[in-house]
Amino acid sequence: MDLNTVTEVRLARTRSDLSALGPTVAVLAGGSALYGEPQHHLTAVVDLTTLGWPALTVTEAGLEIAATCTLADLSRFPAQPGWEAHHALFDCCTALYGSFKVWNVATVGGNLCAALPAGPMTSLTAALDGEALIWRADGSDERMPVTSFITGNKTTVLNPGDVLRSITLPIDAVRSRVAFRKIALSPLGRSGAVLLGRLSPEGTFVLTVTGGTVRPIQLRYDARPTAATLRADVLAITEWFTDAHGAADWRRGVSALLAEEILEELA
Ligand SMILES: Cc1cc2nc3c(=O)[nH]c(=O)nc-3n(C[C@H](O)[C@H](O)[C@H](O)COP(=O)(O)OP(=O)(O)OC[C@H]3O[C@@H](n4cnc5c(N)ncnc54)[C@H](O)[C@@H]3O)c2cc1C
Repeated sequence: MDLNTVTEVRLARTRSDLSALGPTVAVLAGGSALYGEPQHHLTAVVDLTTLGWPALTVTEAGLEIAATCTLADLSRFPAQPGWEAHHALFDCCTALYGSFKVWNVATVGGNLCAALPAGPMTSLTAALDGEALIWRADGSDERMPVTSFITGNKTTVLNPGDVLRSITLPIDAVRSRVAFRKIALSPLGRSGAVLLGRLSPEGTFVLTVTGGTVRPIQLRYDARPTAATLRADVLAITEWFTDAHGAADWRRGVSALLAEEILEELA
């Protein structure tokens, strides 16, 4: 939709151009969420995509995903030797039921910053122990786990003027075996629950529950838990929510079921 109060679109070329950001000047990435609802408080936007950040960078430490990397770029990222979790990149992109038009503009950073519970990039980066790099408005840098970056339904740790720069997926996580499950009330509906399980080569098991909870919840085990333990732990989560895409009790129930399937798949 048109944002009638926005009279200026600034193209960022360097970090200093981000100093224009504030309570009435927002970051523009793909715009697929920003232009989706009225933003009466905004007078201008600053386009991050003109900063020219490389979308995906492989390092010895893992995979650095620029906040401006699109879902289309991520979905096409080629397999790397030993990266057992590679398929999860594409799997999670499919949990955003936008057409190719949305995939081509929607960014990983925009998805995290929009912080919808059904944010599939939240699911992916939380499940793979992603670390968010934040450029604070005061010029400082801060790193934190994605699980801390998202604080609730549409809320994050960002303050006006802050920018999410990148998310790094550590090498140990991308080398782990991963299983993915997603469920929605209708075949092309927004996700009601998205769960990923991860089994490291050392045998540690991590289940990440998203979609049905207001923020990503992780359950960590030194070794594969029993199905009964995992089920009980999922059912003990308290942060389920209800909206048009599913009731809290349904989300809780299907998440327990999907968690068991994941455990079985990673056996
Ligand atoms: C048809 C359709 C289907 C969709 N389905 C889903 C879905 O299933 N799940 C879902 O989660 N979303 C969905 N969306 C919403 C949206 O497409 C995604 O959340 C998308 O990933 C947002 O990315 P973007 O780059 O377009 O963000 P923008 O729209 O550009 O920005 C989103 C918000 O984040 C802020 N922002 C963006 N990048 C940064 C950054 N690097 N640092 C600080 N702030 C930033 C913006 O100021 C804005 O407030 C859908 C949208 C459409 C149109």
